[in-house]
Order: sequence, then structure tokens, then C-alpha cells
Amino acid sequence: MRQLKLNDTVIRYELVFSNRAKRISARIREGQMKITVPQGLTEKKAVAFIESAKERIFGLWQKALAAEEQKPMRRYDEGEHLLFLGEMLVLSVTKSRRQAIQIQRRDQNLIISIPTQVSDNDDPRVIAGALEAWYKTQAREIFWAKLNQFAALMGVEYRQFRLKDQKTRWGSCSALGNINLNWRVILAPECVVDYLVVHELAHLRYLNHSSDFWHVVETYLPDYRGLRSWLKEHGRELGL
Ligand SMILES: [Zn+2]
Repeated sequence: MRQLKLNDTVIRYELVFSNRAKRISARIREGQMKITVPQGLTEKKAVAFIESAKERIFGLWQKALAAEEQKPMRRYDEGEHLLFLGEMLVLSVTKSRRQAIQIQRRDQNLIISIPTQVSDNDDPRVIAGALEAWYKTQAREIFWAKLNQFAALMGVEYRQFRLKDQKTRWGSCSALGNINLNWRVILAPECVVDYLVVHELAHLRYLNHSSDFWHVVETYLPDYRGLRSWLKEHGRELGL
């Protein structure tokens, strides 16, 4: 990730060289900026050009942030669909006299009961919070089980596992053997979760993305390439 500074504001961006690009363009998606430049350009020239156009890039950035803020909040109405381990769950919303909001999964249904004292206007906000907590609980349990299962299979040991909340980073493994996994991946098909788990565990052997590293991943997941590109392609859709 590179940085662009204007006064006190810092924008982090990804620099991408593309042989299809005729000129420099900037794109923002979910708070991430990607600047694409033509393949033939040297890195030095590209960065110099970006620096010279930074006022314009900051304008784009501010516009994108404003648009993000205005995005209408999801309603979470009865019958809406939610992804969980690659399956579609159907939301069912009921009111109950209980004090706390409750979420229960029954087959393909996710049943949410909201305390009657919560006003209808507050519903989406309350449901969003409860759903996120539910997803995180499921993610913690499932990731933990898979980490242990694959660690035993691969003959590696990790030190600590933490659930993370990031927009576009799916997992990481530190030199100390601590593994972080993003809860949003629990929305992806189970084989993609397996891929992420095996990927991070393989870093316990190689703390890089060398061919030796990929060989370890391939040993346990022969189809890892497809799973990896799935995550690249659909990662942005993994959210509530
Ligand atoms: Zn990695």
C-alpha cells in the first residue's frame, strides 16, 4: 500500500499496472483506492504523476466518502436473504416480549426476535448490530474448529487466534505464530474458509508467498487456485 498526503489527510492506495490502461485512472470501492497506470510506465514516473494529480485524486476520494455515507441502510425486512457459509438464509423478523434481541437459526431460516419496546425506526440498526454479533460468534467457533483440524493435519502449531473486523483483509499470520481471520469470510462457501485457514497455517512453515509456500497449500487443498480467485472476485460481496 502506498500513501498520498495532502495537508493532514493521508490516502492509502494500491498501484496497479495494466496493459489495458491507456491513461491513469483512480477507482474507489469500499473505502479502498486503486490507481491504475499503463503497463509501460516506470514506477517512478507513475508515482510522480500521481503526486502531481493529487488534488484531483483527493477530490475523488472525498466524493466517494460522501456517497458511501449516503448509501441507504439495509432494512432487514422479513424474507430478505443473507449469506452464511455460501448458503442463502431467509430472514424472519418477529417481535417478542423478551428484554433482549434473539437470533436463532432453523434450517435455512434465520429468526430474529426483537423486543416489543424497540421502535420500528430503530429496527434496522438494532438488527444490524445483533446480526453482526451472531455472525462473529459463528465465525469464531467455526474458524477455531477448522484451525485445529487443519493444524493437526498439517503438523503445525499456531499460538493464538483472533477474529478481525476489516473491510478487505481476510487473514494474516505473524512471525510469532498468531493468526488473524476476518469474520466476514464466514459468509463465503465452506471450501473458501478452508482455503483461508490452510493459507494462514501454511505461513507457519513459510512466512512468504514463495513456491514452497504454495506447495504446502496445494498439498492440503489441490484446488486452492480456484478458491483463491473466488475470494479475489467475490470478497467485496462478503458483508451484511
Ligand atoms: Zn499469505
